[in-house]
Amino acid sequence: MKKQLFSIVVPMYNEQDVIHELYIRLKSILNNIDNDIGVNHEIIFVNDGSTDNTEKIAREICLNDAAVKLINFAGNFGHQIAVTAGLDYAKGDAIIIMDADLQDPPELITQMIEKYNQGYHVVYAVRKRRKGETIFKKITAKLFYRLLSLMTNIEIPLDTGDFRLISKEVCCILKIMKEKNRFIRGLVSWIGFKQTGIDYIRNERLAGKTKYSISKMIKLSLDGIVSFSTKPLKLSTFLGFGMSFFAFLYIVYAIIIKFAFNKSEPGWTSLTVLILLIGGVQMIMLGIVGEYISRIYDESKNRPLYIIKDDINIEHIEKRCYSRCSE
Ligand code: UDP
Ligand code: MG
Repeated sequence: MKKQLFSIVVPMYNEQDVIHELYIRLKSILNNIDNDIGVNHEIIFVNDGSTDNTEKIAREICLNDAAVKLINFAGNFGHQIAVTAGLDYAKGDAIIIMDADLQDPPELITQMIEKYNQGYHVVYAVRKRRKGETIFKKITAKLFYRLLSLMTNIEIPLDTGDFRLISKEVCCILKIMKEKNRFIRGLVSWIGFKQTGIDYIRNERLAGKTKYSISKMIKLSLDGIVSFSTKPLKLSTFLGFGMSFFAFLYIVYAIIIKFAFNKSEPGWTSLTVLILLIGGVQMIMLGIVGEYISRIYDESKNRPLYIIKDDINIEHIEKRCYSRCSE
């Protein structure tokens, strides 16, 4: 029987403090799996334009271990794009996506592979508990996953990040979906196939700080909702009707008290409140429309998703020219 190959894709942005430990933990797990069930592995580090020593350390690891490959971005293109590049170059029968900071325990890979061998195409890890993250992060994450499931028509499992195994087939389909504002876990759910989850407790970051700034978190949440739902656009129609209804009631009320009681409302306050309210709602609605239009704009520019500066131990050159300016 042909030996199976598993690819591990790890996006990295300024992860100099964790990369070595990650490599050691990953290697020990992967070597065990290799010995037990006779498989091969490759590890693909995607350096997302780090400004610290991540690149240097990753290079050293690659030079000593041909199973480790490095894709070096020319700048910071973001986590979802870094994962996409890793998937583009992965050659495995199944691919595992994980963060660099060991919040996703490599030990779970064994269980993921077991499920894959039982016939599942996607095995995602469900965060049952999160350790060492701020209350703000925990609450916003919980709210986001619930809002997302309320807003979208496809079933994106609650509390799952990108830590998951996907089969080669799912990966092939992801590769042809070249949308720019990517929300990978949503795309994977949309693709379908047999999917399952395994629970885990999310550890705290091994070292360093989160690389997901508030603005990156907001962008990811908006990508999740806007890429998978047009419900926010419909909101304006409902709100428009709702507000018109109240305005109509108010007019009736004003007419009645004018003619029945010969009283006119002094009404400065109510007028100001109404103007502010309507103005506010209109601004929000314009903003929502703007979110969709800016994404249409991004798609229409048709720029490559990422630019690669150089790479190590990556063999298949033929795909590269699409994102490389030098070739
Ligand atoms: N990451 C990246 N590019 C970015 C931000 C983050 O490649 O612009 C990587 C980061 O190095 C890590 C993963 O994405 O491997 C998840 O980031 P992080 O752990 O900071 O996010 P959190 O777990 O706090 O949500
Ligand atoms: Mg993390």
